[in-house]
Formats: sequence, structure tokens, C-alpha cells
Amino acid sequence: MKFSDFLGNEAAKTVLYRAVCDENALRHAYLLTGPKGVGKRTLANLFIRALLCRGEDRPCGECLPCKKVDRQIHPDVLILRPPEGKDAIPAESIRTLREFLYLLPNEAEKKVVLIENAESMTLTAANALLKMLEEPPSYAVFVLLAENRSLLLETISSRCLVLPLFEPGLYLSEKYLARQYEGTAPALLENALLYGGGNLGRSIRYLGEEEVQKAFEETKNLFFHLDRGEFFLLKTLSEYERDRDGFLTLLENLDRLSCAAAEHRDSLSLLEASEKMRSTLSQTAAARLHFLCEETMDRLKQNASLGLSTARFAGALSTVAG
Ligand SMILES: [Zn+2]
Repeated sequence: MKFSDFLGNEAAKTVLYRAVCDENALRHAYLLTGPKGVGKRTLANLFIRALLCRGEDRPCGECLPCKKVDRQIHPDVLILRPPEGKDAIPAESIRTLREFLYLLPNEAEKKVVLIENAESMTLTAANALLKMLEEPPSYAVFVLLAENRSLLLETISSRCLVLPLFEPGLYLSEKYLARQYEGTAPALLENALLYGGGNLGRSIRYLGEEEVQKAFEETKNLFFHLDRGEFFLLKTLSEYERDRDGFLTLLENLDRLSCAAAEHRDSLSLLEASEKMRSTLSQTAAARLHFLCEETMDRLKQNASLGLSTARFAGALSTVAG
């Protein structure tokens, strides 16, 4: 993969590419922000590969350093992320980081530290990192990834060059998927687009996971039959009376569809489903459905009873379409 293969986000790509080509433009720390699925990790990997690549037209993808970065075995790259099953990057990781950082590079001219979910560092870890960011060794480059800049200590983000990444949107997502997934059934691609709602990472996840596809099909079946009356809705939703995760997934998917129907009506002209969607729900009804989904998800997160929530939701749904 080359910089030009990374979809959209020209501003961030230009900054990183320039840093690869011109040592004077290279900063000690970068912070890539943006929602899940936007490509933070992909772009960071591209950047790190390019920094350490020994080939021409970096990253060449062929040389040993490129391959080592890809396989996450390059001795001059340290990746920190929350341990399996944990939410936070613990303070011990910072000790590992210190040991890594203050030894000269092994093979490359640089040492790169990639910190995923940087917002999940404990306060102790964040403060220790701050010290290193304030006086980094000349060969060090930090790349931090976070969904939201505001969740990081301001003292940390202000030491980084912040590069916000944006979702490519439906139009670019469609172009990308059509090219990369040539030969895939159009209906599957259309569902992937709807599921992603302009977030390419989410669309790609859809294409790779049958479970996700199955759940989305079930939601679509409900979405396009909202007008079939309360009995149908109660019956459908009663299947989730004992399945909290399933119900939450249904709500998330329904929310996606309602947003697509409310916000992307025009950009959705490229989709066959959009016509059907327009005739199913008015824009106001779609917006009501969106609020209803959010409200129910909030209630569930506050531990509302599942049985009551599904029944209540079914009742409310029957008034949305009517
Ligand atoms: Zn290379």
C-alpha cells in the first residue's frame, strides 16, 4: 500500500509524506485522531513503514524493513496498546517504553513508538510519557492514535502535531469498495455501504464478517416492515427479550439505517435501497427513529430491564412509521 492508496484525508497524508521525504519537516510526535474505522492504524503503519523503508518510492513494501514493520517485528518499532482484555495502557508499558527509547536504534536511523488508544493511558502512564515527549532523543518519533483529542491530556496533545482524520463519506467509500471488491455481489456491497454510513473501516468489517451481515439483514427486515403494525413489531422484538447484546446490535443497526434515511438521502441516490428507504420513512420519521434508538440504548446502558425495554421500544416503533 502507498500513500496514494489511502482513501481521502489529503491534508494528513501530505504532512506525513513530506515528513518522510524531508528530514527537516519531520516532527517528534504526531497524533492521529478520528472515529473508529477511519484508518488511523492503517495510515500510521504506512507512515512508519515509509520512515524505515530502505527502498525507493517509500514505502516500497518489498524491502526487509518494510516487511518487518508489517509483521510487527522491527526492533526499532515499539507498539503500545491496552493488553488483551484490558481497557487501559498500564504504567508498566511506560517502563518498557523507557528501556526501548533510550537505547540507540538497532537497524534503522529512527526509533518509532506507536501508541494505540492513547486516550486509554492511566494518568501515571500519561505523565511519564509526557516527560519523554518533552525531551525526546533526537532519533525518536512518536505516533499516537486516539479517537478524540479531548480525551488526552492537553499537555500531551499540545506536544504533538495533531492530524485529524475524517470519514471518507459514502461517495468515496463506494468508489473504493467497487475497485477493491470487484466481483462482489452488488447487494452485498450496497449493504456494506449502508452499514458503514461513510465510514470505510466499518464497511470493510461488514464484508469480512458473516455474523455482522446476518445481524444487519435482520435489522433491515425490521426497518423495511415498520409499517406492519404493533403485533408484528412486538413479535419480532420479543426475540430479544433475553438477548441484551443482540438487542443492542439491533438498535445500533437500526440507528445506522435511520441516519442513512435522515441524513444521506441525497448521497444515497447511488444506492438501490435508497428509493425503498425514502418510500419507507419520511425524513422526520427517520430522525424520530434515530432519537428513539439512542434513547433506548442509553436506557439499556443504565441497566433498564430488557423485557420492558423491548416491549416499550416495539410500542414506540409502531408510532414512528404511522
Ligand atoms: Zn521498503
